[in-house]
Amino acid sequence: MIQIEEAEIIGKCCLCTNFCNFAENTTGLCGLRGTANGKRFSLCSPNNALLSYYEDPLPTNCCNAWFCEGSKMHGTNLAVFYYGCSFDCLFCQNWQHKNVERANLISVEEMVDAAMKERVRCICHFGGSPEPQLAFALRFSEKAAKEKDLMVCWEWNGGGREKYVRKAAEISSQTGGTIKFDLKAWNENLHRILTGRSNKPTLENFAIVYDTAPEVISATTLMVPYYVDEAEVEGIASFIASFDRKIPYSLLVFHPDYRLRDLPVTPLNQVKKCYNAAKKYLERVNVGNLHLLGLRLL
Ligand code: SF4
Ligand code: SF4
Ligand code: SF4
Repeated sequence: MIQIEEAEIIGKCCLCTNFCNFAENTTGLCGLRGTANGKRFSLCSPNNALLSYYEDPLPTNCCNAWFCEGSKMHGTNLAVFYYGCSFDCLFCQNWQHKNVERANLISVEEMVDAAMKERVRCICHFGGSPEPQLAFALRFSEKAAKEKDLMVCWEWNGGGREKYVRKAAEISSQTGGTIKFDLKAWNENLHRILTGRSNKPTLENFAIVYDTAPEVISATTLMVPYYVDEAEVEGIASFIASFDRKIPYSLLVFHPDYRLRDLPVTPLNQVKKCYNAAKKYLERVNVGNLHLLGLRLL
């Protein structure tokens, strides 16, 4: 059982690679931890997380459904949506995660019970992004996987602390699950503009997961019109290929949301250029959200 140090939020918070320092009466970027009336607080803990969960019949709409083992099975995926995120993306397509005050506090025990239902075959940790609540997610996953055969998967921005990231990779490897990194931009300045954070910790964690369990790793990129073009995709694809040309990579068609509601759906021409750029480096490239273009197959 991993030990989680709640003491990590004393001083600056070290629970993800943002390392937030709180001014008085403020919260960190995830909104889950901060200071009020001269005291530090955390809305969650390794035993209780702010999340919602539901079962999705397999095959699901997981980003890895185009190749994962779970999609070939009968039963359900236990989808776990974590509130709070360590990024602040302008195009966030799950921005409801910011409403941490509306979220329910759910215990490890309740989640383990939910995972024990016979029809549940896999767990997808997503959100938001699970990084700020990884301590909980790992504890729940370890307990559930001890009781039953379950694939444990992660869809994340990749900005978690190394020790948690390694542990997540080990659990996914042991259970036959996957880890999907959302690689949002190759140019670091562009990444900061779009997400509020550097892409360096994410790229470092990609290398750590590959080093720990290469078979679990995959990636996606959202093709944001005018921003994340074929040059960005080429940089990301060549980075992925520097580990292995067979790593699965999915390009996702953008739809207007959150603060980028004035942009169009990714134009088909951009989709084709991005796809061709990725295929120069990688053998397994998919395009997701094609229905937004009224298409089924590229
Ligand atoms: S977990 Fe939240 S408060 Fe802590 S460093 Fe990360 S974003 Fe900041
Ligand atoms: S949770 Fe994992 S195994 Fe299950 S459908 Fe999603 S990616 Fe596939
Ligand atoms: S990492 Fe994902 S959930 Fe978090 S702000 Fe960005 S798009 Fe939204």
